Amino acid sequence: MDKEGFLDKVREAVETVKVHIELGHTIRIISHRDADGITAGAILVKALSREGAKVHVSIVKQVSEELVKQLRDEDYRIIIFSDLGSGSISLIKEHLSDRTVVILDHHPPETTETHEKHVLVNPVPFGANSVRDLSGSGVTYFFAKELNEKNKDLAYIAIVGAVGDMQENDGVFHGMNIDILEDGKSLGILEVRKELRLFGRETRPLYQMLAYATNPEIPEITGDERKAMEWLRNKGFNPDKKYWELTEEEKKRLHDLLVIHMIKHGAGKEEIDRLIGDVVISPLYPEGDPRHEAREFATLLNATGRLNLGNLGVAVCLGNEEAFKKAMKMVEDYKREQIEARKWLIQNWSSEVWEGENVYVLYVGNNIRDTLVGIAASMAINAGLAKPEKPVIVFANTPEDPNLLKGSARTTEKALAKGYHLGEALRKAAEIVGGEGGGHAIAAGIRIPKARFAEFRKLIDRLLGEQVRGNEDQG
Ligand code: C5P
Ligand code: C5P
Ligand code: C5P
Ligand code: C5P
Ligand code: ZN
Repeated sequence: MDKEGFLDKVREAVETVKVHIELGHTIRIISHRDADGITAGAILVKALSREGAKVHVSIVKQVSEELVKQLRDEDYRIIIFSDLGSGSISLIKEHLSDRTVVILDHHPPETTETHEKHVLVNPVPFGANSVRDLSGSGVTYFFAKELNEKNKDLAYIAIVGAVGDMQENDGVFHGMNIDILEDGKSLGILEVRKELRLFGRETRPLYQMLAYATNPEIPEITGDERKAMEWLRNKGFNPDKKYWELTEEEKKRLHDLLVIHMIKHGAGKEEIDRLIGDVVISPLYPEGDPRHEAREFATLLNATGRLNLGNLGVAVCLGNEEAFKKAMKMVEDYKREQIEARKWLIQNWSSEVWEGENVYVLYVGNNIRDTLVGIAASMAINAGLAKPEKPVIVFANTPEDPNLLKGSARTTEKALAKGYHLGEALRKAAEIVGGEGGGHAIAAGIRIPKARFAEFRKLIDRLLGEQVRGNEDQG
């Protein structure tokens, strides 16, 4: 990617924001309600406060017309959007043309000119892969570092956001994420190890770490705590120990045994690479603390966001211990619901799924919460319910509006090679059936009117089919 071009944009954004800081304006921050967005928000709060600026942060699910109009009615002169906004450039232009706007984001941007008073900082137009090379928190990290070199101490928080977005989903970090890791290493605030990339390194007994594995799944063990316990005992491990308590030698032996187990059960190289790979830990926190390891930290933040308590997540990132204790209470339910979602999927997939030529569409009603449909879609792939070369979209009812359905689409690199771009397809589909959709090639979301669901299924199957054919024409 053209890193220098991207960093020029970062500098332009910093100059723009500095003017407002000097004028004493409060900086209005709008960030996305997941781990990436929450860390991005925290980085901005910390970095801008260091410059003496006042800030007002809101953590939101999406940029809607309603939100933009609300911002128009507030009297802040400058608004920063982080980990969102790129898909709403026209909307922002339409309603906020009299404000300074800075968008620090990594979603594929709408292809329209930004307003002259608005700055878009996004690595995608400079050749970055939106789900691998830099996350929303990463973009804000480069902004913060340009504002003040001191903000390099936010490198770990930035990486927590990247891991929350699964930027190292294939087992290793890529792109400008690596620059952030280097900054963090040089300050001694983080470390990258080759370890087991499953949730639970710090706080879960080994048997749960294995039994709850969903990305990748461990054949015969995922979903079965008793089997996980038995397997560990048979191999001479204490199932109640935590991963972080193992000696380096024990870790190595566990890795080797898991790899053999995976191979024996027909797992491919790609799954094994995902099982053992880059794991980021930080000596800023004690061992056994979820904040000590990036995946557990990110999960903690996702749990706060899901309950609409994103600001609590921001406080956790800023080191607030009270907020941390409250957030800890939310993780149990969050993980339990994921396990229940997987069970429901396994029991109901074959009877409930609609399979088109280019897509699986599953409607779950109220059985899986609308904030978990993305995880459900990726679970369907990892559990082998859906073939990896065909995208999956899972829809649930949403408490926001009884007339709407919330859907999340997920797929794999294998499918992308055929030419699919889920974000593009959902954006187009939403334009046709009403609602709003968009996102990355590999992961995207949509809201549609319930009454148009049957029509949507056929439509999305056709739109995805056109992407494959478009790809064939070029190839
Ligand atoms: O009061 P002052 O002259 O600084 O206001 C200039 C502009 O800056 C006003 O339009 C006001 O809306 C904005 N402002 C702001 N944040 C502040 C103070 C003022 O955005 N904390
Ligand atoms: O896909 P999305 O970001 O919505 O996933 C949210 C979180 O859920 C990710 O941080 C990921 O670690 C977790 N996840 C999971 N098991 C899956 C898919 C996602 O634990 N099969
Ligand atoms: O909203 P946002 O950009 O922050 O989230 C990115 C989404 O892409 C997450 O839901 C993440 O789990 C998903 N993802 C994925 N497969 C990857 C990388 C990211 O499903 N290989
Ligand atoms: O909603 P969900 O988690 O499935 O979204 C997956 C990805 O698509 C996220 O990166 C999200 O920010 C993005 N998205 C978007 N525009 C939408 C809906 C989702 O950019 N309208
Ligand atoms: Zn993101």
